[in-house]
Amino acid sequence: MRKEDLINLTEEFGCPLYVYDAATIERQYNRLTTAFKKVDRFKVHYAVKALSNLNILKLLKGFGSGLDTVSIEEVRLGLHAGFDPKDIIYTPNGVSMEEIEQVALMGVQINIDNLSILEQFGTKHPTIPVCIRINPHVMAGGNANISVGHIDSKFGISIHQLPHLLRIIENTKMHINGIHMHTGSDILDVEVFLYAAEILFETAKNFKSLDFIDFGSGFKVPYKKGDIETDVEEFGKKLTKRFLAFEKEYGRELTLAFEPGKFLVSEAGFFLAKVNVVKQTTSTVFAGVDTGFNHLIRPMLYGSEHYIENISNPKGKERFYSVVGYICETDTFASNKRIKEITEGDILCFHNAGAYCYSMSSNYNSRVKPAEVLWLNGKGHLIRQRETFEDILRNQVEIDFVNTNTNETVNA
Ligand SMILES: *Cc1c(COP(=O)(O)O)cnc(C)c1O
Repeated sequence: MRKEDLINLTEEFGCPLYVYDAATIERQYNRLTTAFKKVDRFKVHYAVKALSNLNILKLLKGFGSGLDTVSIEEVRLGLHAGFDPKDIIYTPNGVSMEEIEQVALMGVQINIDNLSILEQFGTKHPTIPVCIRINPHVMAGGNANISVGHIDSKFGISIHQLPHLLRIIENTKMHINGIHMHTGSDILDVEVFLYAAEILFETAKNFKSLDFIDFGSGFKVPYKKGDIETDVEEFGKKLTKRFLAFEKEYGRELTLAFEPGKFLVSEAGFFLAKVNVVKQTTSTVFAGVDTGFNHLIRPMLYGSEHYIENISNPKGKERFYSVVGYICETDTFASNKRIKEITEGDILCFHNAGAYCYSMSSNYNSRVKPAEVLWLNGKGHLIRQRETFEDILRNQVEIDFVNTNTNETVNA
């Protein structure tokens, strides 16, 4: 997207503002399907939690994507967006048996990640096919919070529990139609991923009638200049070769599935904020913007760095700034970064703001959430209104203090 278009959108819809470029999402979707074009049955399930606006879901549906969901609310969003329940996979963790049953009855593919629920579910619903989430115990992932395949992780059924897993299946006569792993976000090394895939293939041989193998996600995208990204094309070549060989060995046609979130939507997103104040201190120059970690928490939560560009002054000379939010506690987006000279009122653009940005936003400091715009065919479409003060009041229940005031304990 051009800088002028982004500036115009802030004039039309105000700041702070999330903008998503539909063409970038399409490009990423096509990159993935092209990398695996030699696999007849290849399926992408977009991970809703990355960015859950209905229009993003509908856009991806148009490309042929299914959905990966982690809550019944995400399943409902998917159904609302028009997805066939068969194209939705539900991969909850630590969710109640009741919720899992409700989702199963909607016709959604269930993915179970612990033996306790598997045994209960198989006993009650032996005819509903279930996918199982395996923990291959491979240390992958860019950050302890997003590495979910290692030994201490709460996710998945350990490969070491395979004998118990098989016994549950034998006892309940339940039908396992898929196996799954998701080893964490930000996989730096294709070889590590392929190693985990080998463990999954080995595990798959224990199940006679699988329809699919789901390799989860973990594609790394570049957040700043010089960042490594997953070489999807090379990865596609290597995994395809291995998958086709396994399919022959297995003796049955299988679907190869992925469930990327970040890879599909991260780069498509731009977060636009206005500079309220430029503040020179003894140690740095702060640029204070009209937003904070209430709207973009990744830098404070994960230490992630979003490249920040001053789109109001693209030809200016570079100076060092610390970009901070307006939340009343430490709220740092970036420290000591070269940015084109900033004047109060300038618009700063945070790149890679598509995944885990709006979807993790909150009303902390009683601030309203920003608006969202989809840039499609050269035009900006409002896809979520900026919240208003009424949204801050909504669901608050005011009790009648005047008439309860006669209560002794209140007066005491
Ligand atoms: C979060 C999640 C994903 C998506 O991960 P990305 O790093 O955004 O691609 C996929 N599968 C499961 C089960 C997840 O929890």
